[in-house]
Amino acid sequence: MTLLSVNTPTEELRRVDAAHHMHPFTNNSELEDKGARIITRAEGCWLSDSEGNRILDAMAGLWCVNIGYGREELSQAAARQMSDLPYYNTFFQTSHVPAIALSAKLAELAPGDLNHVFFAGSGSEANDTNLRMVRTYWQAKGQPERNVIIGRWNGYHGSTVGAMSLGGMKGMHAQGGIVDGIEHIDQPNWWLEGGDMSPEEFGLERARQLEEKILELGPDKVAAFIAEPVQGAGGVIVAPDSYWPEIQRIVDKYGILLIADEVICGFGRTGNWFATETLGLRPHIMTIAKGLSSGYQPIGGSIVCDEVAEVIGGVEFNHGYTYSGHPVACAVALENLRLLEEEKVIERVRDETAPYLKQKFEALVDHPLVGEAKIVGMMGSIALTPNKETRAVFAAEAGTVGFICRERCFSNNLIMRHVYDRMIISPPLVISKEEIDILIERARQSLDETHAILREKGLMQEG
Ligand SMILES: *Cc1c(COP(=O)(O)O)cnc(C)c1O
Repeated sequence: MTLLSVNTPTEELRRVDAAHHMHPFTNNSELEDKGARIITRAEGCWLSDSEGNRILDAMAGLWCVNIGYGREELSQAAARQMSDLPYYNTFFQTSHVPAIALSAKLAELAPGDLNHVFFAGSGSEANDTNLRMVRTYWQAKGQPERNVIIGRWNGYHGSTVGAMSLGGMKGMHAQGGIVDGIEHIDQPNWWLEGGDMSPEEFGLERARQLEEKILELGPDKVAAFIAEPVQGAGGVIVAPDSYWPEIQRIVDKYGILLIADEVICGFGRTGNWFATETLGLRPHIMTIAKGLSSGYQPIGGSIVCDEVAEVIGGVEFNHGYTYSGHPVACAVALENLRLLEEEKVIERVRDETAPYLKQKFEALVDHPLVGEAKIVGMMGSIALTPNKETRAVFAAEAGTVGFICRERCFSNNLIMRHVYDRMIISPPLVISKEEIDILIERARQSLDETHAILREKGLMQEG
């Protein structure tokens, strides 16, 4: 086989990609006809592809490149650690400096008594850890029948069997089935499901589903509730203000564990280190990954409160991954946290760039296609609709319009994703005001083009 490189012609790269590479969450035969876009380099918030385009990445990769691309400090941290100690495990009573230092740093950054870290290689693995950890916790406390975990429809917690069972993506559940003892309640998506209720009424109604579910199952059967503070993959769904205080009240009342999946929200995305601070939540466990290393290395973990850690510490927890606390991943994560802290990246998000983005992003609701615009810190979404007044959906299959809009964004060199007919952004936290202006300008241009296509194809019909 010829040696492939970024200088290999794009057509050849596409051909080999289609022949051998199975892409995640992709219809690979459709992709084969179209050919993948091949990303070759990246710097700051900008990607370069094999055809010489410069693309503004308003998704920070997959919600993870918080510090931006191309930071030499991170590649050097990796290189140093690879020479000193490329690998060792933390099973069988051994440890190493990167894992020790990173767990201490995370304990310092995490709120309250979240002081203990169990490392994993990804967010999915960390949620599998959580599933086993909370059940083991209740077993160790002499309540083994307390084993049901409640998640939410349209929540996303990852793609392994455990994590996708906790999540509420029906298309995933349908491929392989889910783990027993997991239940789901509805999501707080007012735009789509709020009916005639005000957002505040709806937020309460959705939170109270948790109490109803607990009572239906029996309060002594429920181990934990897991949720993303702001749903990410579900379409950046920001719950009404009434929602989280009511969830916290219910969790407290029934003494169940709260797992906050901070995989996207953590490490500055909402303008604080963790979204639980933004929303005033008191979780027992937080799932972390993505922004922990800004995506430069695969690493995730669970940050666990004192009490749960103490109970789990009292048994041998038969669980762990070869790459739990991988030294290179830990060293890179530590360096990433150092940069976020020293360069006051999160303070700048909170005080300057997020308020600036919010103002521009929310103004998109004046566009004829945009029904609502929601944004928290550096994660936002707009709902596309044929009729804002009635919050109508399109007659075309859900996602048809969102896909058209995503394609327009792509052709305008802007990466914005769609979840059904919601368009979402989650840019690197280092995005500047000038880059925000470009983002908004390209988003508007793409919305205009989408609108023109919809009218031309007769797709403005309400469903
Ligand atoms: C991405 C994501 C995960 C899964 O993380 P992976 O690293 O892809 O396994 C879990 N939870 C949330 C909220 C996520 O966004």
